[in-house]
Amino acid sequence: MSIPLDKPELLKAQYRAFSYQLPLMYVILLTNTWVLAATHMSVAPAWLAVCIPIVLTLVCAVRLMAWSRSLRVTPTHEVAARALSRTNRLASIIAVAFTGWALLLFPYGDAYAKSHVAFYMAITVIGVIFCLMHLRPAAFTVAAIVNGVFFIFFALSGNAVFIAIAINTGLVSGTMLITLLIQYRDFTRLIEAKIETEALSNENFRLANLDSLTELPNRRAFFSHLGEAFSQAEASGQSLAVGIIDLDGFKPVNDLYGHGIGDKLLYEVGQRLAGLCAQNIHLARLGGDEFALIISRPSSEPELLALGETLCTALRVPFIFAEAAVQISCSIGFAVYPDNAGSAADLFERADYALYHGKRTMRGKAVLFSSDHDAEIRRDARIEQVLQMADLQEELSVVFQPIVDVRLDETIGFEALARWTSPVLGSVSPVQFIPVAERAGFINRLTRPLLEKALTVAANWPAGIRLSFNLSAQDLTSPEGLLHIISIIHASRFDPKRLDLEITETAFAADFGQIQSAITTLKALGCGISLDDFGIGYSSLSRLHALPLTKIKIDRTFVTDLHRKPASYKIVKSLLALGRDMGLDCVIEGVETQEEVTALRELGGFLIQGYFYSRPMREADISAFLNLRSSLPFQNRARLH
Ligand code: C2E
Ligand code: CA
Ligand code: CA
Repeated sequence: MSIPLDKPELLKAQYRAFSYQLPLMYVILLTNTWVLAATHMSVAPAWLAVCIPIVLTLVCAVRLMAWSRSLRVTPTHEVAARALSRTNRLASIIAVAFTGWALLLFPYGDAYAKSHVAFYMAITVIGVIFCLMHLRPAAFTVAAIVNGVFFIFFALSGNAVFIAIAINTGLVSGTMLITLLIQYRDFTRLIEAKIETEALSNENFRLANLDSLTELPNRRAFFSHLGEAFSQAEASGQSLAVGIIDLDGFKPVNDLYGHGIGDKLLYEVGQRLAGLCAQNIHLARLGGDEFALIISRPSSEPELLALGETLCTALRVPFIFAEAAVQISCSIGFAVYPDNAGSAADLFERADYALYHGKRTMRGKAVLFSSDHDAEIRRDARIEQVLQMADLQEELSVVFQPIVDVRLDETIGFEALARWTSPVLGSVSPVQFIPVAERAGFINRLTRPLLEKALTVAANWPAGIRLSFNLSAQDLTSPEGLLHIISIIHASRFDPKRLDLEITETAFAADFGQIQSAITTLKALGCGISLDDFGIGYSSLSRLHALPLTKIKIDRTFVTDLHRKPASYKIVKSLLALGRDMGLDCVIEGVETQEEVTALRELGGFLIQGYFYSRPMREADISAFLNLRSSLPFQNRARLH
């Protein structure tokens, strides 16, 4: 029945429950005492009827005040234990004092006054026991002292009425104690159930905020932590940075080695990153192959970039598994509060923008959000706004760039390239407006008029000349979009067998299955399928093999000055070899000089597109271009512009 020292939560609950009843107990005790004192003031001596009650009241008041002061702080379980054992000890002293005082009053006064003493003792002890229900030792001590003394005293009095009262009181107190024991057991169970529920909900909370694969905080935890950290930074005027990490080359690993290795890789990436994150960095996995950092009080921008470099370098070290050794890299985008953003959401978005920008321009590096990015965001927002309202049929046009087979020096086709002349913004490059329309999700509204225009022009070309047309991932991911493209091709006078549709590798990041089936459908129409910007993406070979490709287009970045850059030379060489192995034609883009053409011929690259032959031209210039070239002697045909 002692205090449950081994159950801190129960102890604290007991303390809390008792705290509310303690003042009530003293109110009962003192009120009853003063009422009894009042009925005896005229008959008993003043020291007994007045002085002792004053002393007892003072003692109780001191105790109450001490207690109420300690109530202001939530007690630790040691404090609660000490307070409760003190109460246990005090209970017996107070019981003895009040009982003694009451019995001293007994001899004074008539039978009514005597009965009042008996009634005072009986009723007060019941009230006190009730108030002490959460402190069983105190309740039992008080019951034993008061009832014991009461019983012995009145038994000795020889008065039958008082003996009867003593028996009644003893029985009621006994019943009260039994009820109290039952009640206490229920109380204990309730508290234990509550503790269990709390533990369970804590565990649920932990699991709901944990990424089960990497055992890092998940997206939900990240954003809730970001909210808190941001409020803190705002309040204290300190800086805060967000970094978003995206793995480069994760998807091919997943494709090539399966999800088992993919999962292991993500776990190991999480471990490596966690190992490099200092105390002030909160690391989380946002989902897929994206991780994120919240950095409290970053020291400086160069140091953030240095941290980014450290993380990138660490992830470039190959991961060795029993099944395979895999190598990936990562790009990181950082944004800093208060320099780059005024809210938590902005901070995240800007870090994401820096990442997006980094992925396009310097993969495998850490990029800090800059004022240039800010200007770009504004510019893109403006482009989006104007483009949404534009009369696309009127403002969009198509130009054509020839693709030449250098072996026979023959133009084999043209690539259609979009142009937008806006009455508001003037001429806007497709490098700007195409990504904006893609990100805003309305590229298909552009694709339709562009494809119609390109097909209308191409329908007038000589039979041997092909048309290449660029499609975005989104053109292929919705069944309606695909149907629309097919209906435009059918409605034109151009033979689909002369049409090549160009798709970039980045399109496969969206939904490989969907893209694959869309491409297969288009191939079945007779269209050729070209893989655009080959070499800069990270598609695995297994993925490329799964697509019914007819051509690959080697990106300009590898072609520029390849005769002077051994690295570029080697890459083009191996890309060409890869194309040959896969039985695909290779178009080499962005060829600008005779030296590049010569080097490419050496390597066996014959299909060439670039400023060396011609810049993209208007429809009206095409027949002149074709006629002029076919009329030139073979060796003079190149370089017309
Ligand atoms: P792309 O498909 O890789 O197109 C080739 C780009 O390289 C064209 O830029 C072309 O003008 C440029 N180019 C060709 N030869 C040379 C050269 O020798 N040197 C240099 N420096 N550049 C050369 P453009 O027309 O600005 O198009 C840029 C990109 O916009 C295209 O890249 C393509 O991704 C996208 N795009 C253009 N038209 C369309 C379209 O109708 N639909 C879609 N979805 N995307 C389009
Ligand atoms: Ca293209
Ligand atoms: Ca290209």
